[in-house]
Amino acid sequence: MSDWTNIIDAATTNDPLSGAINTPIQLSSTFSQKSFDEFGEYDYARSGNPTRDAGEKAVAQLEHGNYGYLFSTGMAAISSVLFTLSAGDHIVVSKHVYGGTFRVLEDVLPRWGITHDFVDFSDLAAIEKAIKPETKALYIETPSNPVLNITDIRAVVGIAKKHQLFTIADNTFLSPFLQKPLDLGVDIVVHSATKFLAGHSDILAGAVVVNDKKLADQIYFVQNAVGATLSVFDTWLLLRGIKTLGVRMTHSSESAYKIAEHLEAHEKVSNVLYPGLKTHKGYEIHASQAKNGGAVLSFDVGSQENAKKVVESLHIPVFSVSLGAVETIISYPPKMSHAELNVDELAKCGITPGLLRFSVGLEDADDLIADLDSALALI
Ligand SMILES: *Cc1c(COP(=O)(O)O)cnc(C)c1O
Repeated sequence: MSDWTNIIDAATTNDPLSGAINTPIQLSSTFSQKSFDEFGEYDYARSGNPTRDAGEKAVAQLEHGNYGYLFSTGMAAISSVLFTLSAGDHIVVSKHVYGGTFRVLEDVLPRWGITHDFVDFSDLAAIEKAIKPETKALYIETPSNPVLNITDIRAVVGIAKKHQLFTIADNTFLSPFLQKPLDLGVDIVVHSATKFLAGHSDILAGAVVVNDKKLADQIYFVQNAVGATLSVFDTWLLLRGIKTLGVRMTHSSESAYKIAEHLEAHEKVSNVLYPGLKTHKGYEIHASQAKNGGAVLSFDVGSQENAKKVVESLHIPVFSVSLGAVETIISYPPKMSHAELNVDELAKCGITPGLLRFSVGLEDADDLIADLDSALALI
């Protein structure tokens, strides 16, 4: 089935009771049981409820996985996956990982005896070197935030298989419409569904998708035990958002490519980071594992002062954190997503003082380019 048909098939239901094609919002924390000895499919809504079930089946279907789980935020989803590890376990993580994931790995898990090493995942030899006898998993994020570094998913899966580790991939930046890590051999896909999957800057949500029943059981156990589940209302909004995932990703990624090409030729821009450009150092690998470059790019305007001027002069984009929505969002990583890093740490991650991140929405690409041109003319 084509991805287009798959999206609509996954996000619409045929309610057996009424025939409603939208998933019913079933607000019930508890479910009555058939008899003293015979219990139904649902008992208490943290353990499972029909609305969340429909959303979980949908994200699983989109990622070509067997089992999906929905959480209250992306961080709840990622943390719940990491909570399947035990004291003494070790994990090797891409050094360009999302800031919230960095914080859980640095400041929460070590207190429980779960340790990690950050490695540049474009250096496969460095990944192998970081693997210890107690290593259990490799953690991929591609493209990474905000410098859009590319990891060779198949190669990392190959290393993991050799050492009998499992792989986790954060697929937030592309969504399953553009990249499906499970098809490339990854064991666990995680999402901030807050971004492209929901797509409207309205809800916070997280998703986990796996193929293996044993892994699925472990993740379900943590989901039910810790309890950071997605609410019924938010699941409904997520399903509604997913229905337009294909058209949103297509429009936004086509615009992002156009804008990236334009900025690359612009005299006021010193560097454009976009994996859909042939000049990007990860272009070949990215093209082998994803449909296109996605809807997020970063570009360097030379200095913090210039970045401030550009942000203040733009009319169309919203200046805020987050990404993956219908409106174009511009953010300044050194003061937003990466505010906790000092100048040296920022430089190590390639986050230069003039770097702006641009998540392209559904506006007209030419309008965005004209807006960027007038702002860049002022620096
Ligand atoms: C936003 C984001 C997260 C965290 O998700 P929340 O929904 O904000 O908790 C994780 N990974 C990536 C790549 C993100 O962009």
